[in-house]
Amino acid sequence: MPAQSTDPPGAPNLRNEAELSRLPASERIRYRLVGADCRYHANDNISAFIRDGEIDELRDEVEARMQAVLEALVIDTRSDHNTNDTAKRVAKMFLTEVFRGRYVAMPSVTEFPNFSRLNELMIVGPVKVRSACSHHLCPILGRVWIGILPNEHSNLIGLSKYARICEWVMSRPQIQEEAVMMLANELQVRVKPDGLAIVMEADHFCMHWRGVKDDESMMTNSVMRGAFLKDANLRREFLSLLSKKT
Ligand SMILES: [Zn+2]
Repeated sequence: MPAQSTDPPGAPNLRNEAELSRLPASERIRYRLVGADCRYHANDNISAFIRDGEIDELRDEVEARMQAVLEALVIDTRSDHNTNDTAKRVAKMFLTEVFRGRYVAMPSVTEFPNFSRLNELMIVGPVKVRSACSHHLCPILGRVWIGILPNEHSNLIGLSKYARICEWVMSRPQIQEEAVMMLANELQVRVKPDGLAIVMEADHFCMHWRGVKDDESMMTNSVMRGAFLKDANLRREFLSLLSKKT
């Protein structure tokens, strides 16, 4: 294969994939992201920049660095049988479970035209939310309700797909306000409804485990778009149906 220049402007003086391949996977992926001028915040999905096999490399890197964290915490992971494999377990958990939504492409969703021209309020939920806060990497557990008001031009997606898209957005280090916006954006693009409403209610474990140790701290927030913004009756209908479902 001829050497191709992949140098983005302002990037270090690297020439081709062969040279990139000598870097740790995280640096290689970062190089591609910077080259494409693509944001890579904690709640961004970077799957388009990851090649085959690189998730395994990332897992090894995270494991090595997690081991260094345990050492910095002065934990004797050699003789402590409980922590022997903790670095390995945590690396696997981050990359393939709790932060998986950063590293894999969106689950495939089949959209089909609204043949029967449904135009009634549709509510999906509660959908279980398992996430983590970007500030402390502490769990966030909660529920999401989605309200859709379709029109004849909307695409419909299967009910279970709402849950899969939600899981994909939430399994990243998140901020609740941004998480609901991200979910709304994904659904807006695919479903193209007249109105879209999302309510998320979640328990932030960083509030229990540390800081104020407040045990009554549920956070609720919502996004209302289109018809839900303009029509107070529709909004009321959604919220009242939602409270009956809980
Ligand atoms: Zn937090």
